[in-house]
Amino acid sequence: MRTSDVFDLLRDGRPRTRAELADASGLARSTVAARIEILMRMGLVAPYGDGVSTGGRPPALLVLNPRAWVVAGVDIGARHATAAIADLSGTILVERRADLDVASGPEHVLGWVEQVVAEMLVEQQRTVAELAAIGIGLPGPVEHDTGRAINPPIMPGWHRYDVPARVQRAFAVPVLIDNDVNIMALGEQHAHLPDVDDLVFIKVSTGIGAGLISGGELQRGAQGTAGDLGHVRIDRAEEVTCRCGNHGCLEAVAAVPAIAQALREAGVEVGAGQDVVALVQGGDPLAVQLVRQAGRDIGEVVAVLVNVINPAVIVVGGSLADAGESLLAGIREVVYQRSLPLATEHLRIVTAQAGERAGVLGAAALAITHALSPDHIEARSLALS
Ligand SMILES: [Zn+2]
Repeated sequence: MRTSDVFDLLRDGRPRTRAELADASGLARSTVAARIEILMRMGLVAPYGDGVSTGGRPPALLVLNPRAWVVAGVDIGARHATAAIADLSGTILVERRADLDVASGPEHVLGWVEQVVAEMLVEQQRTVAELAAIGIGLPGPVEHDTGRAINPPIMPGWHRYDVPARVQRAFAVPVLIDNDVNIMALGEQHAHLPDVDDLVFIKVSTGIGAGLISGGELQRGAQGTAGDLGHVRIDRAEEVTCRCGNHGCLEAVAAVPAIAQALREAGVEVGAGQDVVALVQGGDPLAVQLVRQAGRDIGEVVAVLVNVINPAVIVVGGSLADAGESLLAGIREVVYQRSLPLATEHLRIVTAQAGERAGVLGAAALAITHALSPDHIEARSLALS
């Protein structure tokens, strides 16, 4: 049994006595005491409640101390970026947002990350030694193990660029990289659905993608491309060429640019994606009808997912989610019709609640999960003992 295993027993946030920890771990009380001594020196475990020590006797209850360390969470979008410092409970302590074009390249974008993370640490009166990990979401396909983006379509200069190594020039901590949809899924789960172990987060914006959480774990697949729903073939898109070069892709008919294009063909002047959402919110019959149809198209692919991985909740996010009920109604219509009754009996299909903050919350969650992992705790405790 390692120091980290004793810590694992406290990770649910419930205070416990030393005796309880000894019983649960099966270790001698003296061994548990030694492990706890290390965790307390690391600041990770603290006395709980008002148990003011009265002359030598250790307070009865021990609990995880979420303020022991901080993490940084960074959400890099196509044209803007958000960075935050969070404590170990995932509470955001300070946040910065900037208009930043990801196409300006990794040196420029990660230079900004380096600068604002350093500034926010100073502002929070935290040292770099108290920073446990950094999580970063990128708007393209990511090889999670190496932290490199692979052929990202909107990110010139980033292909196979070693993001962790660049960030570690400034901060010698673990740096975890994932794609934007995966971190949004984590952010939504941690902030709003902590008790849900099986959820699918669908982002509908310029493209369509999904983050899959199954059995409480984010599912990335063998190469990190799990959940790439946008290029699944559907019948209605058969005649349409997708930006990927294939025909029949879901996002070629159901993502925001396709809906904007259909409106333009009908003589409606629309520019950016916000215009589509504004038309739907204003009750424009054609826009409502097109978004509802996009929902049905997405529902066709989601129905397959429901039958394959049986999620408890489907969360719909991304810019088109602001169109609200029209999109959800289309998705629900097809999913409930095409999936097995048992799979949909308790299935909830809801709009994302974390909104623009889902990415940064999820990037922080990615860093926290790593910071509190047994291997990381063990490595830090060995450095102390
Ligand atoms: Zn495609």
